Amino acid sequence: MRLSRYFLPVLKETPSDAEIVSHQLMLRAGMIKQEAAGIYAWLPLGHRVLRKIEQIVREEQDRAGAVELLMPTIQSADLWRESGRYDDYGDEMLRITDRHDRDMLFGPTNEEMITDIFRSYCKSYKDVPKLLYHIQWKFRDERRPRFGVMRGREFLMKDAYSFDVDEAAARRSYNRMFVAYLNTFARLGLKAVPMQADTGPIGGDLSHEFIVLAETGESEVFCHADLVEMGAPGLDVDFDGDLQPLVDQRTALYAATEEMHQPEEFAAVPADRQLSARGIEVGHIFNFGTKYSEPMKATVQHQDGQPRPVHMGSYGVGVSRLLGAIIEAHHDEKGCIWPESVAPFGAGIINMRVGDEACDAACETAYQGLVKAGLDPLYDDTDSRAGAKFATADLIGLPYQLVVGPRGLKEGKIELKVRRTGETHEMSPEDAVSRLA
Ligand code: ATP
Ligand code: MG
Ligand code: MG
Ligand code: MG
Repeated sequence: MRLSRYFLPVLKETPSDAEIVSHQLMLRAGMIKQEAAGIYAWLPLGHRVLRKIEQIVREEQDRAGAVELLMPTIQSADLWRESGRYDDYGDEMLRITDRHDRDMLFGPTNEEMITDIFRSYCKSYKDVPKLLYHIQWKFRDERRPRFGVMRGREFLMKDAYSFDVDEAAARRSYNRMFVAYLNTFARLGLKAVPMQADTGPIGGDLSHEFIVLAETGESEVFCHADLVEMGAPGLDVDFDGDLQPLVDQRTALYAATEEMHQPEEFAAVPADRQLSARGIEVGHIFNFGTKYSEPMKATVQHQDGQPRPVHMGSYGVGVSRLLGAIIEAHHDEKGCIWPESVAPFGAGIINMRVGDEACDAACETAYQGLVKAGLDPLYDDTDSRAGAKFATADLIGLPYQLVVGPRGLKEGKIELKVRRTGETHEMSPEDAVSRLA
């Protein structure tokens, strides 16, 4: 992409209404524009990162054996009357009436709809297990939308739902998602800690929140410090094998959100390993048994011929919230520092003197080379000052920058800068391209 053709409305000033660094940087880097409280337009740069995060989430869902579908954003109130949640959900639900006076709503979550889909087609123990997910916009009329996309009203969520014949099988589905989440967040460059969590309005007994530690997080959490450093299981996990040991290894150490915190149990953690901190909830998994299948009559016939309610779980990831969480974890005073896995472009090329024949030619060669290598470069071919170009490149946080100027080119050299460390290396344009390829 050539910057002269792109749409990158960067701001010089930090917007005064943005309280936390991720929100400030997303506005300054031209990633989002607020359209109403908690409702954002995703500008091209933000949209690129959002799509990359979404794709990683999708790949790990697929790897864990989940199957993608797409449910609508608008739902019928009748489904929610069946589960009893239409009245319970309260003011967070955006209620809509259509021209025929039918009660509709903008979905805040999809347990009812997916249960309806399941019961329409699956009737036998032979039809389970099933693990279905979608990645779709949700709306929750939050009392206090804030921190940009961290607590929006319209936000993108991945939500998966499991259907199993009994509790033991449901536990296996839960473990699949538990392990998939560890791998997902690791690929996104995050240390997300699974913590015992309250089940809230979703209901059920077994539940974990995945928390990224950050001072600006809205949740208060308590955990064993070893959990933060424990690596993810890795992408070669056998999801059809026994995942319980991997889950046990992590749930054996103390970790709980405020609602579930047991001070006496926490006191048993060695004092130098006790971590009480703030964190961002980036994912939440629930096992809720027959809470929806019973009232909604989603049953499967067991081998003995008896129909029984199917056992369910639901598993959410805050895809749009993750942008904020990743920036909170990866930035410096100059701007974002994207992990390579989600960087909006793989590398930037900065032409310090557009119009200079040698600079233009070297940039063009580097650009074509990086495109060919699949690095998806952003080439700053604008006539801005070099200082402004550097500032923009650092602000938008591409992992690598190739800096091309007339002085270096006299010796056939350009500069390769690593955004995270700030280190620079001089080399020929060809070497720079092959170093990154
Ligand atoms: P919170 O405690 O932050 O209000 P929640 O517990 O209500 O979140 P869940 O119902 O567990 O949210 O939804 C699954 C995931 O969706 C959350 O873990 C979070 O990452 C994301 N999410 C929830 N609400 C929002 C929001 N208002 N804006 C952005 N992401 C959200
Ligand atoms: Mg909430
Ligand atoms: Mg919560
Ligand atoms: Mg939650």
